[in-house]
Amino acid sequence: MAKLTFLGSTRNIGRAGFFIEHNDESMLVDYGVQFGNPPTFPDMIPIDGLQGVALTHSHLDHSGGLPLVIKKDKGISLFCTPASRDLTILLLRDMIKISRGRLPYDSKDVTKVRRQCQATPYEHTVPLGRHFEMTLFNAGHVPGSAMVSARVDGKRVLFTGDFNATESQLTPGARVNLPKHDVVVTESTYAQRINPSREEIEQSLMDATIETLERGGTVLIPAFAVGRSQEIMCILEKYNLPRKYPIYVDGMARKVNEILVRHPEYLQSPQAFSRAVSRAHEIRDNRDRNRAINDGGVIISPAGMLKGGASHVYFKRLHDDPRNSIILVSFQIPGTPGAELLATKTVEVGRKRFDVKADVQQFHLSSHSDSKGMLKMLTNIPGDPEFYLVHGEPESCDALKESLEKVGRKATVPERNETFEI
Ligand SMILES: [Zn+2]
Repeated sequence: MAKLTFLGSTRNIGRAGFFIEHNDESMLVDYGVQFGNPPTFPDMIPIDGLQGVALTHSHLDHSGGLPLVIKKDKGISLFCTPASRDLTILLLRDMIKISRGRLPYDSKDVTKVRRQCQATPYEHTVPLGRHFEMTLFNAGHVPGSAMVSARVDGKRVLFTGDFNATESQLTPGARVNLPKHDVVVTESTYAQRINPSREEIEQSLMDATIETLERGGTVLIPAFAVGRSQEIMCILEKYNLPRKYPIYVDGMARKVNEILVRHPEYLQSPQAFSRAVSRAHEIRDNRDRNRAINDGGVIISPAGMLKGGASHVYFKRLHDDPRNSIILVSFQIPGTPGAELLATKTVEVGRKRFDVKADVQQFHLSSHSDSKGMLKMLTNIPGDPEFYLVHGEPESCDALKESLEKVGRKATVPERNETFEI
């Protein structure tokens, strides 16, 4: 019998890690970081017998601990899509830069991750040791994101990672016709939310943008560098933002654009993406930033919840003109400047408090399925699998458990480091 251990992201979001053992062999799926001071990682696994590490996607809550495992032994391979590999390396290097020596690994270890990576396209089955094999399926969350399907001891286990069954302007939706599985380990991030249709959100976002520009204002869109910034660029392209309004892209999003242009197979429309990239002006330094602020237009800049990065530079210059707009395009975690701004229109940025006169709006472009999409996708997986629910606040995990049980499915919310026989 195989054993499955939940190393993290149990009843919360952060430091994902799942470990399957069978006889003397094992495989690991994801090994992420939990941000905090200091950042924390899943407990270390026994490396003897580890046949490989599969990665669902590049986000650091799934990938941020990989160097710790890979550096243990020179023979360990990492399996993920080529897009996830390049995005993960970019994010790991950025985290090292930001952490200034407070991480238990360095850039040499990240180089090793890259070297040990065996890029694996969707739908290809890879044998791992004598007992395991593994296949990646499109998860629709960010470009290159995958669900990991592992086969061991006659059983098939699916790790959904983060998934979105709905297509966006950037990414095709997750593969829906999945093969039979016996066990499904699923995220539950938005198990309590219903999202409006993507078209509705896109249209409202465009209306707010055009309105701001027409009254002579500038639009600041603080956005995550991986995925969301590119999706905004694609939306502006799709709805034909008039050419007289420039679009600026700041921060790591530029490097992400370069990576995605190299991996067009993970994009909804490579042509539309290329058009969007060639239209946007890249911001490289403070001189460019000043020019963008003076000229006006749409400025897309990290960080997504106004937590830092160049978005602070723009915020400080744009916040006190009521013609300008600050448009938030993702869920704002309580306690972040973005959430505070939405709730009160005053916000502390860089240890200073600002009263904001600019218009503030939120259009939630989720890269996760909502409760309806999630349930539909999960209950469509053939084989009447047993579900394990992770990657969500405790209430979300419990809500999904209730929904699955209501339709006669077996669902468990595991605790950290709990092991199950599968
Ligand atoms: Zn993610």
